[in-house]
Amino acid sequence: MANRPWNFSAGPSALPDSVLEQAAAEMLDWHGSGMSVMEMSHRGPEFTQICDEAEADLRTLLNIPETFAVLFMQGGATAENAIVPLNLMGRTDTLSADFVVSGIWSKKSIDEAQRYGTGRLAASSLESLQEGDQTWAPLNWMPAAHTWQVNPGAAYLHVCSNETIGGVEFAEWPNMADLGAPEVPLVVDASSHFLSRPIDFSKVGMVFAGAQKNAGPAGVTIVIVRRDLLGLALPQCPSAFDYANVAREQSKFNTPPTYSIYIAGLIFKWVLELGGIAAIEQRNIDKAQALYGYFDQSSFYRLPVRPTDRSRMNVPFFLQNDVLNEAFLDGAKQHGLMQLKGHKSVGGMRASIYNAIPLKGVQALIEYLKSFERSHG
Ligand SMILES: *Cc1c(COP(=O)(O)O)cnc(C)c1O
Repeated sequence: MANRPWNFSAGPSALPDSVLEQAAAEMLDWHGSGMSVMEMSHRGPEFTQICDEAEADLRTLLNIPETFAVLFMQGGATAENAIVPLNLMGRTDTLSADFVVSGIWSKKSIDEAQRYGTGRLAASSLESLQEGDQTWAPLNWMPAAHTWQVNPGAAYLHVCSNETIGGVEFAEWPNMADLGAPEVPLVVDASSHFLSRPIDFSKVGMVFAGAQKNAGPAGVTIVIVRRDLLGLALPQCPSAFDYANVAREQSKFNTPPTYSIYIAGLIFKWVLELGGIAAIEQRNIDKAQALYGYFDQSSFYRLPVRPTDRSRMNVPFFLQNDVLNEAFLDGAKQHGLMQLKGHKSVGGMRASIYNAIPLKGVQALIEYLKSFERSHG
């Protein structure tokens, strides 16, 4: 077994040792085929099996209904910011979609959508929230669903369910009927908490996720889209990005990111072996409770996010004094704790505790946080 440091990168991020070891063992010869997965035709029987199994395992894990297509695409979640409007903006002739802006990623989504139609704000946390005696800074909180003002004629409503940079998570997704917009499909960018918890597909029109946060390596974007939303693409939509084409060809309209799909497929099997989504969710709850629990009783560290909106996956935090940041990061590295530096737009630190980090990794981080607090507090 490899003895590697704990890697808290926000993405691309840690992958389970056992998955990397299996990939290494199969590197030159996949299952007696005489080929690396990288060398296979994407239309041959070997890769077809890999791709079909990945889809089937993902469907089992997330209990995805048959009314949804599962697509493995390229371009990352950033490209989806364009691909989604190109596919869905034409659902209604208003050419207008609604957005909840709760962080840097959803802000990018609405800005990109403006190129293809109108992006309208249904709710936003771009301003500070006064709540009781506490003021929450912009983007450090999530507007509650009952405050969203959704246009019932919108082509779709876009939400980012876990803002990776801000560390804000939106856990309870609404029924669109309760928002007075029963026909409007909810579109969710779930990139950074995909596979960390269950998804209720009765509430959504589409979910997408770049794999490199929690579900695999960079290069593959997972798109799960209700089949009645296929075939609505705008005329200028590139044919390789038209969901109807990709669905009809089972992700092989053109060459898909074959190796990334293979690794993501190994991740799906790894989660199944751990006991499925319920088991991994419990593990993630335990990790988040341990880490937030430590921070909450400390006066040395400060958490920027409103407690009800804290992400289980991405935990930004600040030291008492920014002057200590470099010493903190150097010491962390010496203790085998990697990539804790915060995003440049937020500063401070960020611990991303995705699926591949076990409770043991979080406990190692807490031990270091304690010792740093003792020596510098
Ligand atoms: C990382 C991330 C993106 C961008 O992903 P790319 O693969 O770099 O395009 C978009 N949305 C969320 C929520 C992310 O975490």
